[in-house]
Amino acid sequence: MMTPERIKRLPEIASDLWWTWNTQARELFRRLDYPLWQQTAHNPVLMLRLVSQEMLNQAAADAKFLATYDSAVASLDAARKARDTWWHRRYPEAHGPIAYFSAEFALHQSLPIYAGGLGVLAGDHCKEASDLGIPLVGVGFMYPQGYFHQIISSEGWQQESYERLNWADAPVERAVTPDGQPCNIAVPLGNRSVLVSVWHVRLGRVKLYLLDTDLEENAPWDRELSARLYGGDRETRIQQEIILGVGGVRALKALGTLPTTWHLNEGHAAFVVLQRIRDMIEEGHSFDDALQEVRRTTVFTTHTPVSAGHDAFPFSLVETHLAGAWGTLGDHREAFLALGHYDNGSGPLFNMTALALRTAGSVNAVSQLHGEVTRRMWGPIWPGVSEDKRPVRAITNGVHVPTWLSWEMMRLFDRYLGPDWRERQDDEALWDKVHEIPDEELWNARLALREYLFTFIRERARRRWRDEQVNAARVVGAGTLLDPSALTIGFARRFTGYKRPELIFQNPDRLLSILNAARRPVQIVFAGKAHPADELGKHHLQQVYRRAIDPKFAGRVAFVDDYDLHVAHFLVQGCDVWLNTPRKPMEASGTSGMKASVNGVPHLSIGDGWWAEGYTGDNGWLIEPREQPSDPDLVDAADADALYALLENDVVPRFHERDKHGMPHRWLAVVRQAISTVTPRFCARRMVKAYAEELYRPTADQTTTV
Ligand SMILES: *Cc1c(COP(=O)(O)O)cnc(C)c1O
Repeated sequence: MMTPERIKRLPEIASDLWWTWNTQARELFRRLDYPLWQQTAHNPVLMLRLVSQEMLNQAAADAKFLATYDSAVASLDAARKARDTWWHRRYPEAHGPIAYFSAEFALHQSLPIYAGGLGVLAGDHCKEASDLGIPLVGVGFMYPQGYFHQIISSEGWQQESYERLNWADAPVERAVTPDGQPCNIAVPLGNRSVLVSVWHVRLGRVKLYLLDTDLEENAPWDRELSARLYGGDRETRIQQEIILGVGGVRALKALGTLPTTWHLNEGHAAFVVLQRIRDMIEEGHSFDDALQEVRRTTVFTTHTPVSAGHDAFPFSLVETHLAGAWGTLGDHREAFLALGHYDNGSGPLFNMTALALRTAGSVNAVSQLHGEVTRRMWGPIWPGVSEDKRPVRAITNGVHVPTWLSWEMMRLFDRYLGPDWRERQDDEALWDKVHEIPDEELWNARLALREYLFTFIRERARRRWRDEQVNAARVVGAGTLLDPSALTIGFARRFTGYKRPELIFQNPDRLLSILNAARRPVQIVFAGKAHPADELGKHHLQQVYRRAIDPKFAGRVAFVDDYDLHVAHFLVQGCDVWLNTPRKPMEASGTSGMKASVNGVPHLSIGDGWWAEGYTGDNGWLIEPREQPSDPDLVDAADADALYALLENDVVPRFHERDKHGMPHRWLAVVRQAISTVTPRFCARRMVKAYAEELYRPTADQTTTV
C-alpha cells in the first residue's frame, strides 16, 4: 500500500494516540473507510494496513477529506509544538520531567494493557497532562497477551481467552536511546539477569514507555513474565513488580530521562525507591540521605480500601527475588526490608503499599471519603499520630472529557458554551450556560446517543448469532429485545463482591413490576468482567446472566460481554441513568458515573466514593436508606429498598412524563444539572491541575540536590 503524497502524514497521525481525543483526527479515519473503522473497532493502525489502495486514492482526491486532513495535521503540529500551555505559563521555571509509574494504562482499545478503573485513571491522567503541557513520562508494561477477552458459556460462566497482540496492529514502536540504539536493559531477578526491551507510545506531548521481557535472549519462563496483566501467581507478581520498579528506573536512565518527580500510581511500582536508593548509595551518599531525597521527590497515590488490592509478599519471597538487585544497598538490607514491614493481623509481610507510604513524601487518596478511610486503615504506619494528622491528602479522581464526551454533546457545548469551553472546562461558572441549551436540542442529542447504543448492542448480538450460532435465549440476553422507548439503566464495572452487581435483584417481584409497568417500561444493561481468580465475582456475573436469559425478564435485562473501553463509550453515553451500588465505603472513587454524567446520563448511586461529594440534591439520585443496619445482609436489603423507592417514586415517572410534544422537561432538568455540576468538578483537568500544583510543582522547580 502506498500512502498518496497529499495525505502522507496519515500513518503518523494513526500512530500517535493523540488522535483518540482530537475530533478532526477521529473524523479523518471515520471518513477514510467507515465500514473498516467499525470492523477494526476504531483502530487506525490496523485500518491503514487493511484499507484498499483505491480508498486511499479516493480520499486523496476528496476535498472534504482533505480539509479534515489539513486541520488534523495542523492541530497535531500545534499540540506537539505549543509552548503556550497551562504548565509553561504557570511554572515557567519548572524543570521536569515527572515520571508516572503504573501497572496499567487504558488509552484505547487497540492497546489492551489495562484491566479497569486504575488503568482508565492512569490513561486519562496522561492525556490531560498532554493537554496541559505537563512534562510527564509514563512507565508501564507492554503485555503481549494483554488482559483477557471475556467469553460467557451457555451456563453463564465467564471464561478467559488470551490473544497475542500483533505489534504491527498497535500504536507502539521501539524506544531508542539518545545514541539511536534500541533501548534494552538488564534487570537482576534472583541470581539471574533478565533482559527487558522498551516500547514507546506517543500521546501528544506525553511519552509512555512500556517494558517487555518477551525476548529471545531470555529463558522461556522469563519471556512469559510480562505476558499478561494480573495473570500470574505471587511469584510472577513480585517478579513483574521488580521489573516495573527496578527496570523502569533503569530504562529511564538509559533513555536519558532524569525525572524531578516520581509518581507511583498504586503500590505495584514501589520498587522504584529501591533502585533509586541503590543508585544514590553507589554515587557515594548515605542510606539516610538517599532515603530523604527519595521522600522529597516521590508522590504516591493509593486507590482502594480493599485489602486484596494491596500486594504483600512473604519476606522469603522478597529475599529470593531481590537477591541480585541489592548491590551496595545490600549493607542496608534490614533497613530497607523494614520499610515494607506490615502486619494486618495475619502475620508480618512485605507490603508494597506500606513501602510506598513510608518512602513517599506526598501521599494521596482518590476521593475525600477515601482519604478518611485511608488515614484510618493505615494507622500503624504513623505510630502515635492521630487520625486527622496522618499525612494523606485527597485528590478526587476525574475523567478526561475529550475522551469520554460524545460528539453530540461536544457540538452542543461548542454552540452554547462558546468555542473555548475546552480550555475553561474546570470553571464552574462557565457551565451555567448549559441552561441555555433548549430542551429540544438536548433531548435530540440524548435520543441520538441512545440509538447508537441500541444499534451497537444489536449488531454485536447479530454477529454472535451468525458466527457462533448461540441459542435464541442468548441472543435475547445479549440485548436484542431492548425497547428504544424504555428507561435504560446502565451498570458496567468489574464484577466483584463489594460492588454488589446483584443488588437490584434483591426483590425480583418488585423489580419485575418496575420493569414491566404499563406505558412506563424500564430495562437494565449490564457489562463487566470478573478478575480471573475471583470465583465469587464470576458467580455474581452468572447470576446476572441467568436473569438476562430468563424469559421471566422478557428481554428487559441484557448482558453485553467483553467490557472494554469501546463498550464503555457506548454505554456511558447511551444509557439514561447510571447505576452504582457498592457496599460503602469500599468504592474508593469510581469514575464511570462521571463519564456518564458529563454526557447527560445522571448517576443513581450509593453515597460512596466520588458521589459522596458529587451529589448536590438535583444532579442525580442518592441511594440512602433511612436507617443503617449493622448486619451486612440487612444493609443489602435496606439499600435495595431505597433503590426501588427512588425508581418508583422519582426516576421512572420523571423519565416517562412527557408534554404534548413528547418532551420530558423534568427529566431534562436533572440531565442539565448532571452535566453542569459534574463536568467542572470531576474532569481530569481539575484533577491533574491539583496534582501539578500540590504534588509535582514543589519538587519540579528544584533540580536534584543529591
Ligand atoms: C471507567 C471504566 C472503569 C471504571 O469504572 P468504575 O465506575 O470506576 O468501576 C472500568 N472499566 C472500563 C472499561 C472503564 O471504561
